[in-house]
Amino acid sequence: MSTQLAYTPIDEIPRIHADLRKSFRAGTLKSIEARRTQILQLAYLLQTTYDRFKTTFAQDLGRPSLEVAFLELDSTIGDCKIAYDRVDKWARTEKPKGVVLSISPFNYPVWLALGPMIGAIAAGNCFVLKPSELSPATSGLIAELIPKYMDPDVVRVVMGAVPETTKLLELPWDHILYTGNGRVARIVCAAAAKTLSPVSLELGGKSPVVIDPNVISKPRRNVSCGANTTSSIRMVPTASPDFCHIINQMHFNRVRGLLEKTSGTTVVGGQTDEARLFVAPTVVKGVKGDDSLMSEELFGPVLPVVPVKDVDEAIEFINDRDHPLALYVFSQDSSFKNKAIFDNTRSGTAIANDTLIHCATDGLPFGGIGPSGSGYHARKFTFDMFTHLRASLDSPSWIDIILGSRFPPYNASPLL
Ligand code: NAD
Repeated sequence: MSTQLAYTPIDEIPRIHADLRKSFRAGTLKSIEARRTQILQLAYLLQTTYDRFKTTFAQDLGRPSLEVAFLELDSTIGDCKIAYDRVDKWARTEKPKGVVLSISPFNYPVWLALGPMIGAIAAGNCFVLKPSELSPATSGLIAELIPKYMDPDVVRVVMGAVPETTKLLELPWDHILYTGNGRVARIVCAAAAKTLSPVSLELGGKSPVVIDPNVISKPRRNVSCGANTTSSIRMVPTASPDFCHIINQMHFNRVRGLLEKTSGTTVVGGQTDEARLFVAPTVVKGVKGDDSLMSEELFGPVLPVVPVKDVDEAIEFINDRDHPLALYVFSQDSSFKNKAIFDNTRSGTAIANDTLIHCATDGLPFGGIGPSGSGYHARKFTFDMFTHLRASLDSPSWIDIILGSRFPPYNASPLL
């Protein structure tokens, strides 16, 4: 059953903003108990509508149930529990920013939409979410459920695309979080500059993987930068229901076009099925730095393997390009791991012998650097992003006994 909702009328957007400002000033989320109630309601929303979300994920992305549970629903419920348990400790001294806006993307349409909501509420902010129009079933379900489970004086969802987001960005916000691509990030920053709204950016780009030749089965090969080689990839039938499809026709055409233009050799996958917007997991080897597959973020199941002669060339390759959101190394040798990524490169995250696991690791921030983003989120880091470190001091009257001479005329006797 499709749950797409209509877009929010543009002239309603300033009223939503004004309502939440009024509500924030009235102290709706001042108490920790009020914040906890909203966080609990959000967890309850996800728990009671779990299967509906599984259906919308299948519609939007063809995402298998296990991934939906693990990467989206359980992780967001888990984040609710962490915030619920720790909010009183987190919020002991820090102050909310006010009314904040989050613009989220299609690829994790629950975790990236609701994760920021949890941190913002825990910090005592009122929150406006603009979910992605490219995942309409999931975004529509969020827009349908939020008013039923959560206080409209605390959270609102604005549905829409460019015109609605443009209207939102004309308004002054106490913080804007944008998660998406670098092109739109520039639009967001230019709009925010007009109102001096603070901005955090969670962006993307290319995230290289450095492979130590010693982790590849014999015969030994050169160091690779970009992806593993075929010998160590677990082969899965391309027709498996455990693979997502590409989000829409435009992105499908883009990924297929990049594959058609590559001068590398496809050694795994390569099949596409336009009717299902499906691209099989694909490995292309012998890819050069100026290949079509290296021209932009792929955002599809394609691994270009770029051969390099040694680890120094891999480091140079990485450092010649935008700082990645994440940088990975596969090696069992500490000196290789340190040299390849930890000591000589910059990236939002650096990970050895795994991928993506950092998103689910409590205590680690998630964020980019430079073109891959600025600011950090996930659990306490989301709380921090939506928090103002307000310097607060109540000067004691006796201070003038020791610091009275700070007032002019400076040559007068101290005030006693
Ligand atoms: P998207 O197309 O869903 O857009 C993201 C948001 O930007 C949407 O809400 C959309 O309405 C809004 N938007 C689009 N055009 C706009 C415009 N002209 N003006 C104002 N708002 C506009 O998603 P996307 O950007 O294609 O998402 C994929 C990108 O997000 C990739 O680059 C990926 O790497 C990045 N990403 C980053 C993170 C992170 O945490 N760093 C997580 C997920 C995705």
